[in-house]
Amino acid sequence: MAGIYIHIPFCKQACSYCNFHFSTSLKLKNGFLDALLKEVDLRKDYLENANVETVYFGGGTPSLLDAGEVARVMETLNAAVNISADAEITFESNPDDITTARLSSWKQNGINRLSIGIQSFFKADLEWMNRAHNETQALDCIGLAHEAGFHNLSIDLIYGTPTLPDENWLKNLEKATSLNIPHLSCYALTVETGTALAAMIKKHKTPQVNSDDQARQFLLMADYLEAKGYEHYEISNFALPGMRSRHNSSYWSGAKYIGLGPSAHSFNGTSRQWNIANNALYIDALKNNRVPFEQEILSGNQRLNEYIMTSLRTMEGTDIKKTNQVFGRAASENLVKHSKKFIERGWMQQLSDRLVLTREGKLFADGIASELFELA
Ligand code: SF4
Repeated sequence: MAGIYIHIPFCKQACSYCNFHFSTSLKLKNGFLDALLKEVDLRKDYLENANVETVYFGGGTPSLLDAGEVARVMETLNAAVNISADAEITFESNPDDITTARLSSWKQNGINRLSIGIQSFFKADLEWMNRAHNETQALDCIGLAHEAGFHNLSIDLIYGTPTLPDENWLKNLEKATSLNIPHLSCYALTVETGTALAAMIKKHKTPQVNSDDQARQFLLMADYLEAKGYEHYEISNFALPGMRSRHNSSYWSGAKYIGLGPSAHSFNGTSRQWNIANNALYIDALKNNRVPFEQEILSGNQRLNEYIMTSLRTMEGTDIKKTNQVFGRAASENLVKHSKKFIERGWMQQLSDRLVLTREGKLFADGIASELFELA
């Protein structure tokens, strides 16, 4: 079982908080597409003929590709690797790009799941984030997707922004659930170095992110969505039963994946590699039949730490037996020993062979994981 991630490195405009790799100039789009298809050909053996169960178009903004470009990518992938007949094929899209014609072309090209970057249904938030869409488009795109037969939908929402009081955060969640959206990815705003947001905070044009507000909104969200029947299956992800993201779930379970395009990461069980995050250099290298990447071979300890970090964020938690089988007895004993203080604090529970974060523990997930893996 394996997955494919495709990074489309273009956006209409830069959202204030974003530090992903993208360019707002589309000048290199044709060159990028040729390079991407060449990369598929050069790296088709990376997955060693494994069945591909998930394909994910992310970015950047995949919905900036036109129908013919999406078709070329899908045809090239289908010719190069074994994509299962029932594979989950997700396409990230922005509300302002969603039209009936585009939805129909995505469907024809085999896309069967949409992940839409809504972020908020409120004008003040969208303007503050410098999103390219408005609140009307945020709403309308969901109806259009449903009419086109896309019911496997996910939307992204952001909380903890200075423009979003608790009351509006709850309204965003109410709106999403009333629109029958079966999967929500909800992220606390983070301030990344080098972003417009970091510069605005430095110049005192916008307030610092308030971690108490974020913690409160996280708990409000968890309570509200769980009461509506959503599984809180990963810290930032909620799904109605049977509607989890198969692609992200396979990342978290340690499955192999290949990442194609500038800045994309790949993992084959023993090493991790990442492509250069520069569109022009990526294109030039592929013209010369070379994939520009760096690679790290993971040590046993690094693999254990990654396992703890990712599994602890999930509803199923960290499996003590699996830790024993894969990483050895000392690793599992250390894990159990050092989890005790978090269990005593009420941040973690041991449920049979699994260590699972409690509702409050989820607020400190990264800190808990790093304490566990530093000691493991
Ligand atoms: S559209 Fe997405 S990738 Fe592009 S700048 Fe905004 S958040 Fe970043």
